[in-house]
Amino acid sequence: MRLAERMAGIGSESAFEAAARARALEETGGSVIHLEIGEPDFDTPAHVRAAAQRALDEGWTHYGPFMGLPALREAIAADATARKGFAVAPDRVAVVPGGKPVMFFALLALAQAGDEVVYPDPGFPIYDSMVRYVGATPRPYLITQERDFRVDLDELTGLVTDRTRLLIINSPANPTGGVFTRSDVERIAELALRFPDLTVLADEIYGRIVHDGEHVSIASLPGLPERTIVLDGFSKTYAMTGWRMGYAILPEALVEPFGKLIINSVSCVSSFSQVAAVEALTGPQDDVDAMVREFRARRDLVVAGLNGIPGIECAVPAGAFYVFPRVSRTGIGGAEFADRLLDEAGVCVLAGGSFGRAGADHVRISYANSRENLTTAIERIAAFVGRLAG
Ligand code: PLP
Repeated sequence: MRLAERMAGIGSESAFEAAARARALEETGGSVIHLEIGEPDFDTPAHVRAAAQRALDEGWTHYGPFMGLPALREAIAADATARKGFAVAPDRVAVVPGGKPVMFFALLALAQAGDEVVYPDPGFPIYDSMVRYVGATPRPYLITQERDFRVDLDELTGLVTDRTRLLIINSPANPTGGVFTRSDVERIAELALRFPDLTVLADEIYGRIVHDGEHVSIASLPGLPERTIVLDGFSKTYAMTGWRMGYAILPEALVEPFGKLIINSVSCVSSFSQVAAVEALTGPQDDVDAMVREFRARRDLVVAGLNGIPGIECAVPAGAFYVFPRVSRTGIGGAEFADRLLDEAGVCVLAGGSFGRAGADHVRISYANSRENLTTAIERIAAFVGRLAG
């Protein structure tokens, strides 16, 4: 079959592939601890599940407005105004099935051949994949352990030009857990404002999962609301990955284009999920707070455990639920480490290189698993590294 040429550029997300490999191993009787997938291991809060059940019984089973139910757009606008530090009007909110479509729509709406897109390396693999898919030129900027997994602003300044259509930032970040400081964000904002045709895509999907410091939305800075697409959603904050609930907060000029892309692709998001999402935002937040506290305790456990293993260097990430240790001093790179760790020790992690070339010496470990499993995983990793050295 002849595929369209643009399919040549499209990539994938290794977490789904690694999980499939791990499951195949389990089917043959192997024991695997899953530290690969980026989703909270907690259940969606009970009051949110109950709201969805009620909504189904009340008949929220039909198409809804393409930009989202008015009650949900209002709840998102109120929540974002309170938490992100800038005034958000409900008519700037587009509800979409997960955070991912926001990336896809932003790139489809703004970038094409001849345009450049600047994004983090290592970073969420879909940025690179979608940039290539739309035919734009990738311009990755480096995120390194030496710089606390923050951006090197001089390097970034050198990459942004008149051809840059989109500058993608992600803080707290996948895969590193890095968090940009207020001063980082202010300098990125200054840079963005120098280029009138540049839009910022601020991926804030982990914005509520911060362990040290603060999350600063770039859209809270003067002049930026009209230049920024904020990507956020329910997947991580409310442990709702399977519901497919996300949203964009848009500059006025992008509201209509996003609406057209929604109509042409998904029509709208499931109506009963949207009713439940209103409950998630406006109901009690205790489950979110408890989840974030637990993630912090696990982070400390995992970082201390990994740093006790000779050859592994693990920085303390300020947010999200990932650590991104450098493993190359064990004598093998991240890809071989991840492969062999699964086969020889039954721990599934991801090769850092699947998030960009700059991650090749690292692996990504998601600590969205119980403390008990994390402790066993550390023991298995220590034994595996011991065997490598021996
Ligand atoms: N952005 C980042 C940085 C992510 O890590 C993820 C999911 O892993 C997403 C966006 C997508 O989230 P969703 O599952 O809501 O599409």
